[in-house]
Amino acid sequence: MNSEKKDKTPAKRYYRKRVHLLNLIEKIKLWPSRKGILHGIRSIERLGDQARVTTHCNKAFLINNSKNSRAARWLRNKLFIGVCSQCGVPEWKLEKYNSTRFKRHQGSLLLKDQKEGADSEKS
Ligand SMILES: [Zn+2]
Repeated sequence: MNSEKKDKTPAKRYYRKRVHLLNLIEKIKLWPSRKGILHGIRSIERLGDQARVTTHCNKAFLINNSKNSRAARWLRNKLFIGVCSQCGVPEWKLEKYNSTRFKRHQGSLLLKDQKEGADSEKS
């Protein structure tokens, strides 16, 4: 099961495991549905601690900005069985996602005012 290609493999990027869900999906613009289908996100509208997510196939729903929700976990673990055909997620986006790794002590928390290395893994 080697999905890495020798040519044009995108650079690995590392995100923290404890990254906030909203920051994460704003970055990767992908959403794993409960059925395990990966959708492309068209827009994210922040509403305090929640956000309204609209996919390219015109599904809209509210999500909570949690670090440990199902969606956050599935995104981190890349649990999906297919990609939504209506969303038309481009190949490069999937490859970029595929090359993204989630680490406990390494990588970006995707905070806007983040200082590298200043985070001390508080619980
Ligand atoms: Zn879709």
